Amino acid sequence: MTQLFKCTQCNEYTLEEERCPYCGGEVYNPLPAKFSPQDKYGEYRRAAKRRSRQHNV
Ligand SMILES: [Zn+2]
Repeated sequence: MTQLFKCTQCNEYTLEEERCPYCGGEVYNPLPAKFSPQDKYGEYRRAAKRRSRQHNV
């Protein structure tokens, strides 16, 4: 999976995850994580709740 990083110095996007190829500055991940473990467990809990409710009927 391709991950774009952004330079903290010149604001250029790069595939380099450690250092900007243009200015040598530090890079960071500008995108928030799409999948958070908390959401995943929340979804699992909701699904389990639905299942148990059907079970009771
Ligand atoms: Zn840079």
